[in-house]
Amino acid sequence: MVAATRASVKSSATAFILWQMTRAEPWIAGKLEEVEPTKRQQAKLEQITAELAALGPCLPGSVVVRTGRCGKAACSCHHDPPRLHGPFRSWTRKVAGKTVTRLLSEDQLAAYQSLFDNHRRLKTLVHELEELSLAIIERDRRRKPSRR
Ligand SMILES: [Zn+2]
Repeated sequence: MVAATRASVKSSATAFILWQMTRAEPWIAGKLEEVEPTKRQQAKLEQITAELAALGPCLPGSVVVRTGRCGKAACSCHHDPPRLHGPFRSWTRKVAGKTVTRLLSEDQLAAYQSLFDNHRRLKTLVHELEELSLAIIERDRRRKPSRR
């Protein structure tokens, strides 16, 4: 219950940030006039932020589908040919540093697949946004302060 509440607060914060991004002025015009992105960087920035804003729900973690044998030698999973247990669709994610695993039914996995895909895309886009932002501030024309 506590974890669910925390997760929803976190996702509404993310939604707010994404909402702000859609309202953002091109770059931060006027505020950082010494740091002007190239036309290409500006276009990339708009592309990434637009895609982020349109992404929709994201489910973190990864899903592994497994079949397996149990420990009972007489079980049909040890027969020849074997009838393996499963498939088990095991969804694993980190909650407050701990790994949480949940089994999904076949139709749950089918329903959630696009949300897992969205999360993977989100991580890629965030990484691209960070790299782009780093590249843009490299264009800062001001002298770097010295350590002295
Ligand atoms: Zn078995």
